[in-house]
Amino acid sequence: MKDDIVAIATPLGFSAIGVIRLSGPNVINIVKRVFSPRRNKDLEKVSSHTLHYGNIIYKDEIIDEVLVAIYKAPNSYTGENMVEIFTHGSPIILEEILKILVEEGARIAERGEFTKRAFLNGKIDLLQAESINEIIRAESKTALKRALSKLKGEVSKSLRELKSKVEHLRIYLEASMDFPEDVEEREREDWLRRLEEIKREVSYLLEKAERGDWIKGGYRVILVGRPNVGKSSLFNALMKEDRAIVTPIPGTTRDYIEGELYLSSGHLVKIYDTAGLGIPKDILDKMGMEKTEKILEKSNLILFVVDGSGEISEEEINLFEKIRSYQNKEIILVINKVDLPQKVELSVFSEDIEKIFVSAKEGIGIEDLEKAIERHISSQELEDGIFLNVYHREKLKEIYQFCEEGISVLINLPQSLDILGDILYDMEKAFGEILGEEVSLDIADKIFANFCVGK
Ligand code: GDP
Ligand code: ZN
Repeated sequence: MKDDIVAIATPLGFSAIGVIRLSGPNVINIVKRVFSPRRNKDLEKVSSHTLHYGNIIYKDEIIDEVLVAIYKAPNSYTGENMVEIFTHGSPIILEEILKILVEEGARIAERGEFTKRAFLNGKIDLLQAESINEIIRAESKTALKRALSKLKGEVSKSLRELKSKVEHLRIYLEASMDFPEDVEEREREDWLRRLEEIKREVSYLLEKAERGDWIKGGYRVILVGRPNVGKSSLFNALMKEDRAIVTPIPGTTRDYIEGELYLSSGHLVKIYDTAGLGIPKDILDKMGMEKTEKILEKSNLILFVVDGSGEISEEEINLFEKIRSYQNKEIILVINKVDLPQKVELSVFSEDIEKIFVSAKEGIGIEDLEKAIERHISSQELEDGIFLNVYHREKLKEIYQFCEEGISVLINLPQSLDILGDILYDMEKAFGEILGEEVSLDIADKIFANFCVGK
């Protein structure tokens, strides 16, 4: 990593200012050759973290009036010498200065290359590097907060603590490895307790990662019910716009429609209007229903909609019972069409189910429904959600399995301390990979490829 990289760090388009960023051993010298400071000073001699006013001049022509920030290794974002040039925010100026800097010897940076250098120079670990992208892309306040906590190293810290617990256990174990028959029962029980504790903590982390997922992707609320009960009308009422087609013909919504809602609490909610579930009349119906079942699986909260002005059919009750039998799904029973005379017999549903009465058509009870959704979200303790990418999630699942194997070895093969030692070693290694200590450049590259240029 000895070359000098350059990129435009602000989005292309017209703006008040634009920023060009450089990193590498010679970047101060490169900029010095095209920058004419107002006060005659030598950029290579100024101190780190200073700002300098002047012109970018190329072939005797002033390109722009700029501010130049100098950061010296190792106290910069990347850990290398860095320069940031603040220009006027014209794409023409930015492109021109970029071209000049390339002619002076800098190379156009790849996506995420600045952050990758920060990672490779030990300024941040892999999880922190990734959080920078998550901060930029955060779609809600909650997502931003979680990404910032990851940048501060809170996720890394819990992983590092777990890793060192594994390491300690392995060291104890190694001390007894040569004489496994001398290991006392008390000692073995202690190891077992430690391993079980690690397993528990890994499983907490996995749960938190799941919560992190839906902080990022939104809390998924799905509207389900037999055709014509008013799901699409309710979707529109929640979205406050006419997005789903509402018609008196059953089965209009054959696919599903997704809408995004930002609650005042800062949470992102994704609402799905689905094809009515029931007995399919044709192949399109059938496909729609299959899709519905797929998103049902991924949803966090189910709004089971019934028509209060009609009677509940046998089929509807069966559907309701089927949905209730899904694990980990929260359900609200929404009784729609309260503006009409009510015929519905609610005693067919169990008493403990939460019920909300609405009229999608007249806008009655919609706020209550929103509040109920909020309540379900806040009961999820999402504030502790963490962001883990799929590779790291898989690693963590692997670690969980190692825990189970280790426990089983301790119980069933108490003399085979060497096997247990190997398992613990693999666990440490897996933790190291998540933290980027054991550089798996493959994963690192995949992560940085998602970055925008200039980060
Ligand atoms: P879906 O098949 O469950 O999506 O139901 P739709 O939203 O397409 O509505 C079916 C029919 O019920 C339409 O004619 C709607 O205008 C009507 N409808 C929906 N909600 C209400 C309501 O709250 N009150 C009344 N009176 N009619 C409604
Ligand atoms: Zn519909």
